[in-house]
Amino acid sequence: MTTQATSPSVGTAAARRREQAVRAAVEQGLAGPDAPIVALLDTTGIRAAAAALRAAFAAVTDAPVLHAFAVKACPLVPVLRLLRAEGLGAEVASPGELALARAAGVGPADTVLDSPAKTPADLREALDLGIAVNADNPQELARLDALIEASPIASPIGLRVNPQLGAGSIDALSTATATSKFGVALLDDGAREWVVRAYAERPWLTRLHTHSGSQGVALSLMARGVRVAYELAEEINAAVGHRQVDTLDIGGGLPVNFGSDEETPTYAAYAHLLKEEVPGLFDGRYGLVTEFGRSLLAKHGLVVARVEYAKRSGGRPIAVTHAGVQIAARTVYAPASWPLRIEAYDAKGRLKQGPAVAQDIAGPACFAGDLLAENRPLPLLEQGDYTAVLDTGAYYFAHHYSYNSLARPGIYGFAETPEGIRFAPVRTPQPIEDLVVEAGGAHAEALL
Ligand SMILES: *Cc1c(COP(=O)(O)O)cnc(C)c1O
Repeated sequence: MTTQATSPSVGTAAARRREQAVRAAVEQGLAGPDAPIVALLDTTGIRAAAAALRAAFAAVTDAPVLHAFAVKACPLVPVLRLLRAEGLGAEVASPGELALARAAGVGPADTVLDSPAKTPADLREALDLGIAVNADNPQELARLDALIEASPIASPIGLRVNPQLGAGSIDALSTATATSKFGVALLDDGAREWVVRAYAERPWLTRLHTHSGSQGVALSLMARGVRVAYELAEEINAAVGHRQVDTLDIGGGLPVNFGSDEETPTYAAYAHLLKEEVPGLFDGRYGLVTEFGRSLLAKHGLVVARVEYAKRSGGRPIAVTHAGVQIAARTVYAPASWPLRIEAYDAKGRLKQGPAVAQDIAGPACFAGDLLAENRPLPLLEQGDYTAVLDTGAYYFAHHYSYNSLARPGIYGFAETPEGIRFAPVRTPQPIEDLVVEAGGAHAEALL
């Protein structure tokens, strides 16, 4: 038994909204026998997170700050549009993400393109639109040299550096290791001198970018990464004799608490730590860009799944539900790194009471490891009950994995109104015909 095994409803406002939303989803038929899995987004919670981010930085600096939401974390147009209404921009890392940001109306001045593998066409599109680009490596800078020589640009251009500070607790998400694939590795032989020279030779190189945090990375390590970037900017500006680097992009990566409803660490705590560790960052000489993703959305999304069957195997109770690897690939394949809280609801969508019984919460896919939790103590789930898989607003249901050709579930935003919970469609459930088209249905005869 682990401590996060139970689902502590600590009575926060977010927990109360969630319980009402599950109940309403069942009562209104968004979840039911014919809709055995549905994803929900707490609009109020998302707005509050965006406001908290802006307030945290506004409290420590008067410098202009663009908070560019990392589209990767929740690539849904209505979410990007909501965040835009809350004053956020977009960090994009592919032509697809750029198209989503544009569909949400995010303007070029509020968009940043990062990606380790931009093609010449990707770069040209970004420069044509005038959106900011962070180059990853010397070869990409050379491509930019050629494009900029051919025609003048409006885009601010930066270079991504890797401070090589070491890993957090999840290797696959640690961006600042000695051998990370991202950015220019600053501690490698001659790298720092090369970077300073690269700026001296390119007056249009005016930004500096680092992104060293992620789930499993301590705030202190993140702040050290930002300090390395700040000190490098100071060194470059001293070397060229004027303030050529005018904007620091400090990335995202605030870790998220998946163990309870408490939102910790907070943006305010991180901004204060940065102010202590890197005071010059906030004194107004640099514009700032942030790129938070997971921390803005994770705790404001959940998946509601019907218990299709409740069975026993080897004496162990197993709830066979409709939420598994297709919405939670990380949890299924790396359960120790990505445990998720699960709540038990009855067939009417009310939080289930009763003694905790250790049980497996299984998904619908045809492989044995498709479990969202093993031996999880919860009120015993029965056929027709529901589970709520919490904290799945980022990198979960918006990152569908089409194992077993399972259709993408519908996603609905919810908000409290005087008449009760109101839902708004964010993404409609994927029709089966759509799956056939995606699976080459138009080319059925192609291999004969
Ligand atoms: C993934 C990513 C982010 C967002 O990271 P989170 O952990 O979701 O906050 C920001 N910037 C870059 C360059 C990224 O690759």
